[in-house]
Amino acid sequence: MVGLRTISQSASRVRKSVTNVRYASMRSQNWGPHTGPKKAKIVEVGPRDGLQNEKKFIPTDIKINFINKLSKTGLKVIETTSIVNTKLVPQMADGIEVITKINREPGVEYPVLVPNLKNLERAIKADVKDIAIFASASEEFSKKNINCSIPESLHRFQDVADIANSHGIAVRGYISCVVGCPYEGTISSAKVATIAEKLYKMGCYEISLADTIGVGTPGSISKMIEDVKEVVPVERIALHCHDTYGQALANIYCSLEYGVRVFDGSIAGLGGCPFAKGATGNVATEDIVYMLHGMGYETGIQLPELIKIGNYISQQLNRSNGSKAALAISLKDST
Ligand SMILES: [Zn+2]
Repeated sequence: MVGLRTISQSASRVRKSVTNVRYASMRSQNWGPHTGPKKAKIVEVGPRDGLQNEKKFIPTDIKINFINKLSKTGLKVIETTSIVNTKLVPQMADGIEVITKINREPGVEYPVLVPNLKNLERAIKADVKDIAIFASASEEFSKKNINCSIPESLHRFQDVADIANSHGIAVRGYISCVVGCPYEGTISSAKVATIAEKLYKMGCYEISLADTIGVGTPGSISKMIEDVKEVVPVERIALHCHDTYGQALANIYCSLEYGVRVFDGSIAGLGGCPFAKGATGNVATEDIVYMLHGMGYETGIQLPELIKIGNYISQQLNRSNGSKAALAISLKDST
């Protein structure tokens, strides 16, 4: 397989030979607002973003079972695990085992988080087809979360994106703290737009704008999306909401008005962020799907199946299901 040195040496060579058009064509579905029937895409982040925050190690076979179940619900994208330094994120220490042992359903993408070339090499060996890289709009958060400044992280990600793309691996880019940061407070939307443009230009087919601590409101989220739309096509923008202040669905609704059609959700509302105190959790996928279906959007997802799996993983983790829709529908079905 590909050696690390070879990978590093070929990074700059590859960089010059690829174009944005090619990157975008790696994921051909256009998620823009004017493409026929009303459609929206959900990126399920529960197995990674959700489980990562659990303190007690979750057995690998439960993770695999969980992902295999999710693969049969109609979800098109399931963020599966992280391939990272296992000392920093012990919950994801089995990342390679998980990605190699799950049943990869045709038509479903299984992105994994990859922070650097070393771990990209491990991902390539594990036949990963989709990765995600994660930048931050907050300098302090970047230093605490990935241990380097924003410019340093972008420099590193450029190499990762180049090599990944040259291996036919699609790259998704995250930006955390897009409206607020636990250390810096309010984040300027112009700064978010600058980073989003850089990630797009370096070859990310989609930019997920993450309100990591859930402080956004339709006011701040709409301003931020307006600015990012100036530099990244709206069909390449995704929104990743946390529900700390109960604003997530309002923010998603508001971004629909701006043409955003891709939303990250975590089944049963699993997760939070170990580096962002007070982040109480991702918006539950079931709640997004319930709202989108109610508005006439097709997602391809069977909500009752999703609810069963949300209940399954909540049971495994010995916690209550954080989805209001799942709770309401389960109660209705049991009466
Ligand atoms: Zn999240």
